[in-house]
Amino acid sequence: MVIKVFLLAAITATIVSFNVYFLSLPDQSPYFPNLLNSLALGFFLFIGILNRTLRREIFLLKRDSQKLKLAISDYDKESSILTALNEVIEIFGKNPDLSEVLNRIADSAVKLLNVKFLLLQVYSTDEQKFFTRILRGKEEFELNDEVIEEIILQGNSALINNLSNFPKYRNFAEKGYKSFLIAPLKVREENIGLIAALSRERRNFTGKDLGLLTMIAAQASLIVENAHLLEKTKTLSITDGLTNLFNHRHFRERLAEELEEAKNKNFSLSLAMSDIDYFKNYNDLNGHPAGDEVLRQIAKILMRGVKGSDTVARYGGEEFVLIFPDTLKKNALSVCQRLNKSIKEFKFKNEEKQPNKDLTISIGLAAFPVDARDAETLIKRADTALYQSKEKGRNCVTAA
Ligand code: GH3
Ligand code: MG
Ligand code: MG
Repeated sequence: MVIKVFLLAAITATIVSFNVYFLSLPDQSPYFPNLLNSLALGFFLFIGILNRTLRREIFLLKRDSQKLKLAISDYDKESSILTALNEVIEIFGKNPDLSEVLNRIADSAVKLLNVKFLLLQVYSTDEQKFFTRILRGKEEFELNDEVIEEIILQGNSALINNLSNFPKYRNFAEKGYKSFLIAPLKVREENIGLIAALSRERRNFTGKDLGLLTMIAAQASLIVENAHLLEKTKTLSITDGLTNLFNHRHFRERLAEELEEAKNKNFSLSLAMSDIDYFKNYNDLNGHPAGDEVLRQIAKILMRGVKGSDTVARYGGEEFVLIFPDTLKKNALSVCQRLNKSIKEFKFKNEEKQPNKDLTISIGLAAFPVDARDAETLIKRADTALYQSKEKGRNCVTAA
């Protein structure tokens, strides 16, 4: 600017000097100064127009560069979002631990949205409560029921830059939060949870920020759904479809694990094999579906009659197995006798048509380490004891 003024002043001074000089000449001809003045005027006009055009060009260039900068920062942001989300998917692929993956998502959201406080909750419709709750920021904070309902039932998201203006977010405003973003976690049409980002400083959250949170919520939802599907598949693969007890394969796995533990800790372990008495007769008289119902009822009685640490499984057909970890044979024997009694006392449909006028089971029992030290031998010993119960006239428990 200073240079410009200086240049213009120098040019003006030169022209004025020329004018003075020409006018002071004795043989003065006005032609040359006039020409010079016209040229000077033209020159000034040209400089003026050039200046305006240049300024406009500079303004446009500045605006474009600003836009470019924003686009680059958007691009950077988007690529860091994609990187963060990709990382999360990779982690989930390697180790599908829902809680760990959701924690990583929460960390990414905190970084990408530049907030200190974040809440990620996954709602369990079965248990009517949030079964996963992840919090970022020092302070514990709760969403009130009204907000949860809005998010979970209606699936609304919200962007609020001044919380004190909204009565339903009063509890946040009272705790000093000023701005707030919230988005639901959706699996198909169902809202299964929410993610909320809060700021103590007054922020100007934009639609883009909410879009970003929604994107993160979508990712979290996908992970939750996959984890649930995985869990379901896992459960199905170890469950017997008719009785909902563990299946034979899972029984084998559990027995191996429990035996290993018993060996390591010097514990006893008892194993019971049971078989329904005269079940062929029951099926023949009442039909297979009625027989299936008996199998389901017996499964329930057995499940109800043992501790949570015990394993009940369907060994095959009409045979059930029970693993009693850390249990001496004499203690397992009294549990089995009680189970036998419960089944004898249960009123099964048409059981009076059975050969002994009752639907009963027989049980054989063997224990580690007294009867066997490995799974195969233990099963064989329990099976032999079961055979002895049948020999004795059924509806009884025999210990090896
Ligand atoms: P025992 O007292 O000697 O055990 O006589 P049982 O009639 O129970 O023995 P058997 O081995 O002759 O018959 C077993 C019957 O169990 C035959 C079969 O129809 C029935 N069974 C096995 N699996 C199922 C099933 O899944 N559903 C039904 N309804 N019946 C089954
Ligand atoms: Mg049998
Ligand atoms: Mg039988």
